[in-house]
Amino acid sequence: MARITARNLVKRYGAFQAVHGINFDIEDGEFVAILGPSGCGKSSTMRMIAGLESISDGEILFDGRRVNEIRPRDRNVAMSFENYALYTPITVYENIAFPLRAAGVNKADIDRKVWDIAAKMELTPLLEQMPASLSSGQAQRVSLARALVREPSVFLLDEPISHLDTRQRYRMRRFIKSIHQEFGHTMIYVTHDQEEALALADRVMVMSNGEIQQLDTPQQVYTRPANVFVAGFVGEPPINFFDFTSETDGEITIEGNRITVPESLRPHLGRIGKRGTAAVRPHFMELGETSPIRLKGRGFITEELQDHNEIFVDVGETRVSLVTPPDKHVARGEEVTISINPDHLLLFPPRQQKEENFDVV
Ligand code: ADP
Ligand code: MG
Repeated sequence: MARITARNLVKRYGAFQAVHGINFDIEDGEFVAILGPSGCGKSSTMRMIAGLESISDGEILFDGRRVNEIRPRDRNVAMSFENYALYTPITVYENIAFPLRAAGVNKADIDRKVWDIAAKMELTPLLEQMPASLSSGQAQRVSLARALVREPSVFLLDEPISHLDTRQRYRMRRFIKSIHQEFGHTMIYVTHDQEEALALADRVMVMSNGEIQQLDTPQQVYTRPANVFVAGFVGEPPINFFDFTSETDGEITIEGNRITVPESLRPHLGRIGKRGTAAVRPHFMELGETSPIRLKGRGFITEELQDHNEIFVDVGETRVSLVTPPDKHVARGEEVTISINPDHLLLFPPRQQKEENFDVV
């Protein structure tokens, strides 16, 4: 197992800089998800860790030792991609044994390791089958087993399940989590799917435009996003944003509603100044007067989703979504009051136009 450190890590492709001098520490045995929109530099970062891409500047350390000049196969890293290419003319057993044979491991050890990993990956009944007869989920498990059989110290996965259908994806997600619990590798998992990242990882590294926006636990990334980008990229349904103005100390105005800012946010508001962006997740607002932080609005639509409802309300010019219990409804045009949970009001500096576009795929 290994601890992975990046210091001022840069990736350039010709004149184009894809990764802008990032720094991180991933603990031994930790599961970190790299999350961000397409093109933000996730794969470049991962491929530099694996040694498949050269490092343009800065360095990567495994357990404090610089690995920039170390060849991929000597880094003891396993990597699994979306395009799991199994060798079709040979059995599942032979596919898993392949990297061991290539490394010159003796026959008895190969047999022991293949059976051992097959048992852990629930592949024992499939060992004599040919790849063509496998479902896509099974093929993916074989590909993971093949990557893991060499007992790597670091396991890197780049969008390994994004091509599977929703149900298979849920199954594989649990499976990948169980692999981490079983083997305890340092694991880095690249995905553009925020739900997947939050469900799997000990910590999530949110990237955008070649920079780390936040590296923290799923809980912190969700409830205490570092900036507007993280707030908007993480969470489903998406977080609600409001422009606010602040004329009086400790007060803000959102769409004509005057709000006294909780004590804990006041120093923060002081730093932001007279204009900014407020944000609240749909789960942290409700209909009615249940908190001192309230907004007046008009009902737009209620979506009934059986175990909960999603309610849309127009607050001035801003359309807001709320996740409510299934017995709550709004009628179109109905005057309603929304209450915001004071612990979950977020205040940020004013948004830049470009930050509002979260193109995910
Ligand atoms: P992600 O995995 O987050 O989608 P990548 O790390 O693959 O992002 O790519 C980051 C940026 O670098 C993108 O703008 C992409 O087009 C560019 N890029 C990636 N690989 C190459 C390459 N081999 N040559 C030139 N540009 C590249
Ligand atoms: Mg990628």
